[in-house]
Amino acid sequence: MTSDKAKKSPKVQGSPRDKTPKSPRTKSTGAKSKKATVERFAALEEVGQNSLDLLLVVDKSGSVKYANPTSLATFGISLEESIGTDAFAYLHPDDVERVFTQFLELLQTPRGSIRDTVRIVAANGEVREIELVSTYALDSVAVAGIILNGRDVTEQNNYVKQLHVLEERFRVAFEDNMAPMIFTDLDDRVFAANDAFCNMIGFTREEVMGRDSTPFTYPEDIGITEASHRRILRGEEGQSRYVKRYVRKDGRLIYVEVLRSPARDEDGKILYNVISERDITDERTLAAELSHQALHDTLTGLSNRVLFTDRLEQARAKIGRDGGLYAVLLLDLDDFKGVNDSLGHLAGDQLLQAVARRLEHVTRATDTLCRFGGDEFLYLAEGLNSPKDAELTATRLLDALVEPFSVAGTQVEQQASIGVTVSDGTKSEKNDLVRNADVALYEAKREGKGRFVLFTPSMHQQAVDRFELVRELRQALQSGDLKMHYQPIVDLATLEIVGFEALMRWQHPVRGWVPPNVFIPAAEQSDLILDLGYFALREAISAASSWKQSEDKTKDLYVSVNLSARQFHDPGLVSIIETVLAQSELSREQLVIEITESVTLLNVSETMNVMEQLGRFGITFALDDFGAGYSSLSYLLLMQPKIIKVDRSFVSPAMENSRNDALLEAIVSLGHKLNMTVLAEGIETPAQFERLRSFGCELGQGFLWSPAIPKEEVPAMLRRGLTASAIS
Ligand code: C2E
Ligand code: MG
Ligand code: MG
Repeated sequence: MTSDKAKKSPKVQGSPRDKTPKSPRTKSTGAKSKKATVERFAALEEVGQNSLDLLLVVDKSGSVKYANPTSLATFGISLEESIGTDAFAYLHPDDVERVFTQFLELLQTPRGSIRDTVRIVAANGEVREIELVSTYALDSVAVAGIILNGRDVTEQNNYVKQLHVLEERFRVAFEDNMAPMIFTDLDDRVFAANDAFCNMIGFTREEVMGRDSTPFTYPEDIGITEASHRRILRGEEGQSRYVKRYVRKDGRLIYVEVLRSPARDEDGKILYNVISERDITDERTLAAELSHQALHDTLTGLSNRVLFTDRLEQARAKIGRDGGLYAVLLLDLDDFKGVNDSLGHLAGDQLLQAVARRLEHVTRATDTLCRFGGDEFLYLAEGLNSPKDAELTATRLLDALVEPFSVAGTQVEQQASIGVTVSDGTKSEKNDLVRNADVALYEAKREGKGRFVLFTPSMHQQAVDRFELVRELRQALQSGDLKMHYQPIVDLATLEIVGFEALMRWQHPVRGWVPPNVFIPAAEQSDLILDLGYFALREAISAASSWKQSEDKTKDLYVSVNLSARQFHDPGLVSIIETVLAQSELSREQLVIEITESVTLLNVSETMNVMEQLGRFGITFALDDFGAGYSSLSYLLLMQPKIIKVDRSFVSPAMENSRNDALLEAIVSLGHKLNMTVLAEGIETPAQFERLRSFGCELGQGFLWSPAIPKEEVPAMLRRGLTASAIS
């Protein structure tokens, strides 16, 4: 840039802008005058010689008259090289114009001085920054001129610049850091806090500054914070890492992981604390949720077995110390399957949740309620004084379920049975308790449901016996000790045998004949019932096919096989029946399957589906034990069996009376109205037979004619016929 003053400057040799710092420096004076000049500056030289600062004298034309050793060293030239050269030639090109302007100004004001920082280019090309005071000395030195007193501030400025870079780097790292950070003084008071920290705790920087973290630390965790600060001050810890809780300004509690590191000076003295934090609330929540999930049942939110077992263990330890009793109650919903089947699984789930809430409502704070699985709940009652307390607990639980539940828009009655076991913690192990409660539960179910039963050691024996029985039964099935016997089914009008009911017989090597009423229910507790059931089917079908082959008269004989509820829900049932029939001579129409209403307890829709498949295949159904237990007419209508087998309790009741007769007659006429054949079980006397015949009952079976007989005896019975022998 060209300044007006520069153009008007006649005294300066050459334009400063024409000069380049690196170009050979021009001399304005000869060698002779140079020497003279040096001499004339002897006084100045004395000062300049040992000065750490740069000291130069230039005349009004800018020509160097004197340069002290520091100046020469800075420029990288010798005294000889410097004297007489143009001082502007040493300037950085960008500074020339400015300095030139200042120079002209100075020449207008004798004794005036100007202070500036200028850049020079040394002989080696290095740029250095010189803080310069230029004074127009006029008469103070031998030659009127300008004294330049300068200080090389290159290093210092570089240091400042570096410091600035560092500062900026730190500012970005601190202020813009996503990690919440604060700096605290030796009293642990905040003197710097970044945005992330303020956002995390919801307080403004102003609210945080100058305070320790007490106002926003969760009260219980103030101690943790102080202790960590103290440990670092005392040098017990180089760095401290801990988890604490803050209470945000909005009241929300958050968990943070804290890393506290002290900043020290060169001597290792602590200056302040650098604290960086991490909000771990979400992680904690997730972890808590996971551990909650591991210990709780997802459907009902109740404790699960794992947690229950743990509580049981604790309760046992507590009783060992403090004495007293505790009890385990195993609660099983009665006929819960029915709800699942009729209303769907969603409603079933809703009912389980509703039951859980009711039970939870009556659970004492010291007790534990858990979902054991399916429709079973476990209750641990602690601090009991007597078994009576356990009974009261059981009653409380049962009472909680008395009111009907409202599920899927309907009212559902849901009772439960409970097995209770009480312990003083000494004899039984924790697993025994649940097992004993289970044994007692079995009794409660057996005694008619909707009740509780207290475990007694004899029950345990019974359970062991049942287990043993099943084991032996399994052996019997293999060793051939199980047999099928056949009881004739009689046409009450003609007294002809129309078929046989296959009934299982077990000849135990020690106990003798074990009645099916004993071993069938035991087998139903395990999968063994499936094997027994198929054994019965195969045996009966093969026996019945042989009768057909040997006797003319028997061509329409049918065989009636009892099926257990469990078997009815075995997915292989239909195909097994088809296969066994296909391998035999028996036609499908000759097979009757006897079922009781209990088959529908497990799953109504599945039951109907299986019945439909077998029905289409040509199999006939008989509804066994009709009128016993909890028979309902709706089941009769639902299942539509071809044959109704009227239970023995109607046929040969303990007391024969007219009311019973009326009932029997009504059942027979109902069966006929529904187009079903009625069969009377357990006819023992001619009077019973006559009465049934008079009501129009078509079929009958009973000891009046014959008990069940081995298959080998059937052909003889068929040959002989029943009429003469039995009735007379
Ligand atoms: P159920 O199917 O009702 O069989 C009729 C039962 O009444 C048989 O008892 C039979 O012996 C008995 N009975 C027949 N006539 C008379 C009589 O005039 N008076 C008296 N007091 N009883 C009579 P059993 O053989 O002891 O069988 C009992 C139950 O065991 C059967 O009742 C049936 O539910 C079950 N059962 C028998 N065999 C099998 C089988 O192979 N599979 C399955 N699942 N259950 C079977
Ligand atoms: Mg039967
Ligand atoms: Mg029966």
